[in-house]
Amino acid sequence: MKKIYLDNTATTPLDERVLNEMIPFFVEKFHNPSSIYLSGSEIRKHVENARKKIADFINALPEEIIFTSGGTEANNLAIKGIAFKKGKGHIITSKIEHLSVLETIKYLEKKGFEITYLDVDKYGIVDPNDVRKAIRNDTILISIIFANNEIGTIQDIKEIAKIAKEKGVPFHTDGVMMVGWEKVDVKELGVDMLSFSPHKFHGPKGIGALYVRKGILIENLIHGGLQEKKRRGGTENVPGIIGFGKICELRKEEMEKDKEKIKKLRDNLENFIKENIPEVLILGHPLKRLYSISSVCFKYIEGESILLNLDFEGICVSSGSACTSGSLEPSHVLLAMGIPHEIAHGNIRFSFGKFNEEDDVERVKEVLPKVINKLRQMSPFWEKK
Ligand SMILES: *Cc1c(COP(=O)(O)O)cnc(C)c1O
Repeated sequence: MKKIYLDNTATTPLDERVLNEMIPFFVEKFHNPSSIYLSGSEIRKHVENARKKIADFINALPEEIIFTSGGTEANNLAIKGIAFKKGKGHIITSKIEHLSVLETIKYLEKKGFEITYLDVDKYGIVDPNDVRKAIRNDTILISIIFANNEIGTIQDIKEIAKIAKEKGVPFHTDGVMMVGWEKVDVKELGVDMLSFSPHKFHGPKGIGALYVRKGILIENLIHGGLQEKKRRGGTENVPGIIGFGKICELRKEEMEKDKEKIKKLRDNLENFIKENIPEVLILGHPLKRLYSISSVCFKYIEGESILLNLDFEGICVSSGSACTSGSLEPSHVLLAMGIPHEIAHGNIRFSFGKFNEEDDVERVKEVLPKVINKLRQMSPFWEKK
């Protein structure tokens, strides 16, 4: 049975062209870029060349890129980096952040920082005016997710950045879902910090970056060597960095072309569901939404059971979020949007990538109605409705 992968928000398969670029750096070109002899300094050149490609991809300067182990560490570095620098104060965030932001901020709350968790509307949108109203004299940081990983809703980051700038508050955005799929230009957006992670756009895992605008000062979290201009110690993940650079170069060329194809697949599936399966709710903003994600609630049944039944047919999807499945509580994102518990429980997220094809959607169209029908026949809620 052909496996169908529709969970590209959890991670994506690596582009083979990226793998080929990385391979030499595991074996022949294994040297430490900090070594003084020629072989070391040659690796340094490759690392810095990759940094340029990555910076160029988001219109930043190379020295504004700090390599991390991924999106989670980049979010930790941005938020704790500012918090530890200031020592105390007030932080503004939203109720629909990725756990790597939310848990970092909750940790700071326990340590004495004061937090405002902004509400969202039924589409998962943060009102920039709410950000403005929440700013206090002691506000040290605003952190709002760019595109949400569960529902795909895209925030008005440019407007929020403008408000933050007016008030002189540093602004961080978790751009992990956005970079690699839509054009991101940090200068045009006016953000101070942005996290991104290439394994979410067909690059390698275990490497990520934080963009920190020149002039924004943050505390280092990883002490050790002089790497990353003393902003993050430890020998560089050289193959990861090389792969990161390559995927940025490729996405720059190919993003627009892939976008049309992926959007067509997503819309095809979503339209099929709307027309053929009763009692469903499609989540996220109808327009301000990532073209690769479709989050659907199937009423009267459990997302978990749908997921397992699709898995049995070789189809990989997720429910709510990869991080929250396994817990009984529905996702915090869906609850923040005001979706009742019983409906949120029936959530499935389909997410597409550049290697999905028409056949994948056709197979889901064949299997999904049968699965939904079978589960509803067994559901006491469906009977009583
Ligand atoms: C995946 C993800 C992260 C975490 O990135 P890792 O590289 O897996 O640590 C952070 N934020 C969002 C929105 C994500 O989707």
